Amino acid sequence: MINVDEARARIAEHATVFPDAESIPLAAALGRFLMQPILADRDDPPFDKSLMDGYAVRADDVPGRLRKVGRIEAGQPELPTVGPGEGVWINTGAPLPPGADTVVPVELTKGEIEIERGFDPGQNVLPRGRLVRAGEELCAGRLTPERIAVCAAAGVEPVPVVRRPRVAILATGNELDADPGPHSIRNSNGPLLAALFAPIADVVDLGVVGDSMEELQAKLREGLACDAVVTTGGVSKGDLDLVRPALEALDAEVLIHGVKLQPGKPFLFARRGDAFAFGLPGNPASALVCADLFVVPFLLARQGADFAEVPAPIHAELEAPVKASPHRRRVFPCVLRGATVTPLPWRSSADLYTLTRGNAYMVLEAGADGEAGDRVPVLVPDRFGR
Ligand code: AMP
Ligand code: MG
Repeated sequence: MINVDEARARIAEHATVFPDAESIPLAAALGRFLMQPILADRDDPPFDKSLMDGYAVRADDVPGRLRKVGRIEAGQPELPTVGPGEGVWINTGAPLPPGADTVVPVELTKGEIEIERGFDPGQNVLPRGRLVRAGEELCAGRLTPERIAVCAAAGVEPVPVVRRPRVAILATGNELDADPGPHSIRNSNGPLLAALFAPIADVVDLGVVGDSMEELQAKLREGLACDAVVTTGGVSKGDLDLVRPALEALDAEVLIHGVKLQPGKPFLFARRGDAFAFGLPGNPASALVCADLFVVPFLLARQGADFAEVPAPIHAELEAPVKASPHRRRVFPCVLRGATVTPLPWRSSADLYTLTRGNAYMVLEAGADGEAGDRVPVLVPDRFGR
């Protein structure tokens, strides 16, 4: 069995960035990764720009009494010239007219137009190109609302982004039933994974399959036509744990099976050609931890994210003592508030319900119990496409 860091490193090796671009509307681009950096197509501002409502004047003329000779609105193409002793009404965002070098805010003027104090040339004017020069690199990487605004400002619409992985999900287990009898249960892992991956990948839901070699192989074959297939259940040591033999029968090469992780020990990672398979354990907490530690970073890294930064590693102060596992790293749900982390009660990896109260994972190395006040590593998962 390998440790979590080795497993992540091994998966990261295969998480190469797709070379394929896709052009999409900015309105659909939040959380996507830019194919290449965005460059300014022109200076910003593209002209010397008034930052105030007031009068465009020559600084040499003030203080003094000036003659109003016209007005300029934002977006106006024709500009009057400002001669000596003249002022032109100007709105915020309008281009400074030829002859003027300064804008006097209206609140510092009287009538049309008395100005009682002096101004330096350039006051209340944003010169052309002050923010950005044509050709300058503006942003790169993952699209945030701010970067989407930059694309719009630079006229990049639609925007070329890295294509998203196609990921198939498949819940396995004879006990899964949409209309359960007394000894069967509903599939909660499928909806969990679909919700987890939908903001970062194109999800193909293969539904539920029983613990049958034939049916499992048929579904896995479909899944391996995607960039990745993610299964839950059937990956431990029981005689009905058929995910590994089914993958091997399909000529997939198992690269990881078993990780020193609690929850999530039975985790499996395999490859067939360009397609990858992630076998997650069936228990909801194990499936979630393995998805956040291994699958989500893989899906994001294939689009250009740094695998090591997903989930985001930070540190926080532990609020209450926690028991370590003797042989495995524990990564378990907790509540992160400010710089403090509170462990959630652990009632087994079957406990779907406690998971709903967490917003991060805390990390405890094998054999090293956590004490109140300890500074512990915390992992903040990627959620909602951000
Ligand atoms: P397994 O990994 O197949 O040994 O399953 C471990 C536990 O997870 C068992 O109690 C299963 O009933 C449960 N389980 C498996 N698949 C799911 C699923 N899709 N949704 C909810 N629980 C599941
Ligand atoms: Mg099972």
